[in-house]
Amino acid sequence: MTAKIIDGVAIAAKIRAGCKDRVRALERRSGITPGLAVILVGNDPASALYVRNKIRACADMGIRSLRHDFPVDVDPDAVIETIERLNRDPQVHGILVQLPLPPHFNIARVLRTVSADKDVDGFHLYNVGGLVVGDTVFPPCTPYGVVKLLEHESIALEGKNVVVVGASNIVGKPMALMLMQREATVCICHAKTRDLAQFTILADILVVAAGHPQLILPQMVRTGSVVIDVGINRMPNGRFVGDVDFDGVRQKAAAITPVPGGVGPMTVTMLLINTIASAERTAARRSGRMAAPAVDDEKV
Ligand code: NAP
Repeated sequence: MTAKIIDGVAIAAKIRAGCKDRVRALERRSGITPGLAVILVGNDPASALYVRNKIRACADMGIRSLRHDFPVDVDPDAVIETIERLNRDPQVHGILVQLPLPPHFNIARVLRTVSADKDVDGFHLYNVGGLVVGDTVFPPCTPYGVVKLLEHESIALEGKNVVVVGASNIVGKPMALMLMQREATVCICHAKTRDLAQFTILADILVVAAGHPQLILPQMVRTGSVVIDVGINRMPNGRFVGDVDFDGVRQKAAAITPVPGGVGPMTVTMLLINTIASAERTAARRSGRMAAPAVDDEKV
């Protein structure tokens, strides 16, 4: 068996075409242009690259973006004050704080400061709680992108065994919650999991987000399964690879995402979707209508 390669670039492009239409329609209807504020602290090259990509993607969609750069040794209170100002700014519908932050920051405090209804990354406690009870406001972008990839490939989740490798707050845990919401049977593995392979081999769908190249080898994967590789690892030669032995596993799986070109382009796309949804809700509130759904019209 040779796996179908799931083309995240193509799927993201399709979704982005719809984004442009939504932005134009919103401007026509209500005069509102979606606005995203991005906060970057320090000069980590990877973070700077992610921020540039997000800002370029906004420009392509007609979303207004404002970038706020701070030096690495900034007083956290200055960042908090900026977030509070952006919370009050009616032209800003989404606020994103690029992670990681320098060690002298209390990340939880920063994320709590972002207004829950501008929290397009979905990291505020309120939004995490919404996800837990199945009443999602802003689905976190990376797992949201994985759900959309599966949906576009018509891969059903109901009743499937899904194994998520990685239990972080930004990928693994919300991923598991979204999959449960879609009636999959979910198992979460992490660094302390004993004998990872005994779990991964049971997966109809395997989602890997650990940050370790070659963590998942062909003998750990069930024949005919779907393998979603979220990992991004920069190798000493400058090449980016995922967490899965792509060449080996593709001989066994039914479908697999490549790195790059799989989950990555979807993450930025879902940030755009969340920002547009936030602006649409503002328009609905302003016109006195019931709040528009925070997410695009599908169940997440
Ligand atoms: P993270 O915060 O470092 O979390 C990694 C998770 O993997 C932790 O839960 C950890 O377990 C678990 N883990 C580590 N080693 C493991 C092992 N040997 N076996 C099983 N589980 C293991 O990382 P993250 O932010 O979730 O990101 C994960 C990966 O996804 C990274 O490569 C990151 O670059 C990538 N990523 C990609 C995108 C995208 O758009 N494609 C977006 C975000 C992140 P413990 O909890 O026990 O420590």
